[in-house]
Formats: sequence, structure tokens, C-alpha cells
Amino acid sequence: MSRSILTIDSKALEFNIKSLSKFSKKPVIAVVKSDAYGVGVKHIAKILEGIKEVEFFAVACVEEGLELRELGIKKPILILGGVLKGEEKAIKEYSLTPVVSHPEHLKPLEGLNVPIHVKYDTGMGRLGFLEEIIDDPRVEGVLTHLSSPAEEEFSKKQIEKFKNILKHYKNVKYVHLESSAGVIYKVPYATHIRVGLAIYGEKPLSNYPVQLTQVLSLKARLISVKRLPKGYSISYSRTYKLEKDALVGVIAFGYADGMMKSLSNRGKVYYKGKALDIIGNVTMDMTMVDLTGTDAKVGDWVEIVGPHQSFTDLAKMAGTIPYEIMCNLSRRIKREVL
Ligand SMILES: *Cc1c(COP(=O)(O)O)cnc(C)c1O
Repeated sequence: MSRSILTIDSKALEFNIKSLSKFSKKPVIAVVKSDAYGVGVKHIAKILEGIKEVEFFAVACVEEGLELRELGIKKPILILGGVLKGEEKAIKEYSLTPVVSHPEHLKPLEGLNVPIHVKYDTGMGRLGFLEEIIDDPRVEGVLTHLSSPAEEEFSKKQIEKFKNILKHYKNVKYVHLESSAGVIYKVPYATHIRVGLAIYGEKPLSNYPVQLTQVLSLKARLISVKRLPKGYSISYSRTYKLEKDALVGVIAFGYADGMMKSLSNRGKVYYKGKALDIIGNVTMDMTMVDLTGTDAKVGDWVEIVGPHQSFTDLAKMAGTIPYEIMCNLSRRIKREVL
């Protein structure tokens, strides 16, 4: 009945985890924040838990950690965004592992016997201590984050800085800093990789050395197909006018579903392998495409992401990153796990 379906290939997901782990020679902290990058955490959490290379999960906040526990996840869960006052009870009750990146994060944890990971800012300019050493027996992990993995010189400086900080942490079990793009540095002193995007099959760099398979495909149905004459204008604000008579299709997938408005008159989708131009402004629930030369009918499916195009390809056309498009995939898209 659904008008749009996101298909998740669980075998491909497993392949990518194993491939990343093998490449880096480390087990994986699977980053499933923001509803598993929009994919739908309830559809993949159990699959990930069943993969032996996944030793840890990571989410942004306590609520997301609770959600994982409610889904039956037993492996440890890292809360990347720290702990605020009032959240300590849930940390204890649901056995969540907070990342401490500010002195204020330690206060709610006073007297609480939970493992913690300490985060350093080595050049991200976001979360983390600069130099302060946290001398606390509860510290079981230390981490940092690369701000620009595509820049080798700067990344290597961050890796070096972090190595110096680690000298003060002799007994920690977990040391992690490599995100999907970061794995290219094969940091020898790190114990785990902390990856999100790549497990979903999207390459974080153009010449990415890790073999990945596409996990996600996204399709939506045509809810109208009709001939319109040359000169006719398409969609809001009339940003597109037909240069000749055309067969115009309406896909049941708009910016509310995750089709960025910046794809108006720029993006492409596919019908039976043929590229279709998006014409006119993308609207909330619908997107218009030029179907001229096809035999498309109402009810047919159009590929938005699949063998012909990834979220990364779509993001390039939209002038953004795949993360943003994925995180905006709406609830009304049906999720199907293969
Ligand atoms: C989101 C996030 C990651 C995962 O990044 P990817 O590029 O998706 O692999 C790792 N570490 C931190 C701190 C993050 O916020």
C-alpha cells in the first residue's frame, strides 16, 4: 500500500561491517544516532547486534540509548553527546556509557558507578577537553574525532596529539577516533573504529579503499502521468517550462519525504534504468519528472536510490552531504528489510 519504500539489505549491511573491520583490523562501534541515519533503528539494531564485529553501539543522546535498550539491545551503548543533569538516572537504569567531554558532564555522574569514555578536542572545535586529564577509575575509554579526514596533514596532527594524551591513560580498554572516512589512517594505537555512514554502504570519500556494497534502495510510485503541451509551466513558482510536448510524471515523494528542495530542476531519478530529470520545484509530497519516451503508467515505481544512484550521488546534485538527505527520510516511507 505504501507509496514509497526504503529497502534495507541486511546481508549488505553485514558485508560492510565485516569489510570495515577487516580493513582496519579492529572491531566496530556502530553509530546509529538519529534513528540510524534515518534508516530506522528498529529495523537494523537487532541485525547489527547479531554481527560479532559489532562490539558497541553509539548514539547521540540518552533518549536514543533508551530506545536501543527497549529494542532489546544488550551490547554496550555509548552516548556521544554527554550527560546533562537529570539524565543520570536513565544512564544507570539502562546501563548506558556516557562520553564525558566537559567538566559539567561529570557532575551528574558523581557517586554513580558507571564506565565512562573521555573525549578530547584535538582539532574538531566541537566537543572535548583540550588537555585536562580525567583521573577517575571509571574511565574505560578515550576518544577524539577527526574534523577533516580528507586532509591528510591536519588529520595526522590530530592523530599525533591524541597519541600524546593517551600516555596519561594506561589502563583504558577502548581507544577510538576513526569514523567512516577516518579508517583510511589505520591508526595503530586505536582499539575500535567508530563508523556510521559506511556501514550503510555510502562511501565517505571518492577513492575509498574499503570495499562496500549498497545497503539502501529507495523507490516511490507515480501517482500521475500525463501529456502536457510545449510551453506549459511545471510546479510552484513556474521555474520550469516545457520546451516541447512532454509526458510529465508525478512521484509521491517530496521534500517532506527527504527529496531536498535544492534538487528542483537539478536532480535525477530512474525509471527502468532510464534517467529522468526532475522538473520544476520539488513540493512537499510530490516531485515532477519528465517521462517523455517511456511507457510509464500510474502506479509504476521510480528509483530514487538504487543501482543507478546512491544517496551520495543525490547529495552531490543537491549541494549537500548524504548524511543530511538520509536523516531527513520521513516516517511515512515504508521500511522493508531483505
Ligand atoms: C557521527 C559520528 C561518527 C560517525 O561518523 P561517520 O562519518 O558516519 O562514520 C563518529 N564519531 C562521532 C563523534 C560522531 O558524531
